Amino acid sequence: MPTSEVPVVRFAPSPTGWLHVGGARTVLFNWLFARRTGGRFLLRVEDTDTERNRPELVDAIYDSIRWLGLDWDGEPVHQSDRFDAYREAARQLADAGHAYWCACSAEQVQARAKERGGPPGYDGFCRDRGLGPGEGRALRFRTPDEGTTSFDDVVRGRVEFENRTLEDLVVLRSNGTPTFILANVVDDAWMGITHVIRGEEHVNGTPKYLLIGDALGLGYRPVFAHLPVLVDEQRRKLSKRRDDVAVSDYRAAGYLPEAMVNYLALLGWGPPDGVEIRPLAEIVELFRLEDVTPSPAFFDVRKLQHVNGEYIRGLAVDDFVARAATFLPPGERPRQALQAMAPLVQERVRTLAEVPELIDFLWLDEPALDAAAWDKAMVRGKGAREVLDATLAGLERLGDDGWSAGTVRAVLEAAAVDAGLVGAEGKPQLAKAQAPVRVAVTGRAVGPPLFEAIEVLGRDATLGRLRAARARLG
Ligand code: GLU
Repeated sequence: MPTSEVPVVRFAPSPTGWLHVGGARTVLFNWLFARRTGGRFLLRVEDTDTERNRPELVDAIYDSIRWLGLDWDGEPVHQSDRFDAYREAARQLADAGHAYWCACSAEQVQARAKERGGPPGYDGFCRDRGLGPGEGRALRFRTPDEGTTSFDDVVRGRVEFENRTLEDLVVLRSNGTPTFILANVVDDAWMGITHVIRGEEHVNGTPKYLLIGDALGLGYRPVFAHLPVLVDEQRRKLSKRRDDVAVSDYRAAGYLPEAMVNYLALLGWGPPDGVEIRPLAEIVELFRLEDVTPSPAFFDVRKLQHVNGEYIRGLAVDDFVARAATFLPPGERPRQALQAMAPLVQERVRTLAEVPELIDFLWLDEPALDAAAWDKAMVRGKGAREVLDATLAGLERLGDDGWSAGTVRAVLEAAAVDAGLVGAEGKPQLAKAQAPVRVAVTGRAVGPPLFEAIEVLGRDATLGRLRAARARLG
């Protein structure tokens, strides 16, 4: 077993699903701890369950970690390369009487549990039957009947289990593959992991992990830190079925990796000065495992959106354009539209995926018309016809040379007055006059600042759309 002067931590995904936000938070906290302490952060792919494994997900998990701007040290360990080590450990357990062969099928175990009532699980049926290995037989670890197993958790303090409540667990399946806890403890010891930082769902498995390690004579006691569970707004544990949990989904939805990683850092930890939005380099400096709280952390998508919006606004305009461009349809026109409107769009979006719908009227020949927006601004809005007529007349008088956000605004002000949309002291009610013009030009009720948008759209397209809307209104 290698020993190490510096902390060594690991992230140990089972490649049975995408990297979800809970897994990403575990990666991040391991990474932060390693970078903060000058330690090493290793990866271990726990791919021993050959039936549930999806090998193609391994690269996807690496991709998501890299996308978040995180990295790891050395080459990842694959448990599928280490079956011999686990079988050897299983043999040792069996030889020393710490494990026994069991012939019960899952159905039998379940049926007996149902019959006796109470908690489900294995009843020790084969404990003293003296069975040897054979077809359909699994090796079970024999947990002690007496005593307690305890450990100190950096996040939760002292955690103690009565051994008699621990079920005899399968360590080697009947198909010869090792189960999670056996491989997990063998490898943590072998890799010299000093701090096991992982999700709360592993607390209950920890006494078994320790007992197996002791039975193998590993003399191994890492520091544990079990991170709080992530919950939704109803305080339910995040679920892969119900909630959006894959990191790649957030990427596709236009979240910036810097924002995502900053937000993930706040799930169970907070900086001492309360400044939540800050670069990763600062978080590394401030991060302390001791400051992680045990209470469930609310994965708040609205807050994530807010954080993302802040990061988007903080980008240099060119950077914003480059990143948002990947969310546009192909072609020159969308790209030019984005370039022209970038600073204004950047102020208004919470995700990059919102960019196209904000400006698509600039490249679509016929932008989609939002029926509700039409009804509100054109049918029920006061003076829509008059505003459109006056705006058309005013804009027609403007040549291409005079076409700018400023002159368009002046035309709209005059149109408001013509249409009788005036407030106190005869001031034109510009917002009211803008509503029908915006719907005519963009098809929508909301969008980027209208005068700038009309300047970019240009004279011909603007006049064409205003005329079409006016005709439609009758
Ligand atoms: N393969 C386990 C999981 O994905 C790892 C648990 C651990 O970090 O020890 O949950």
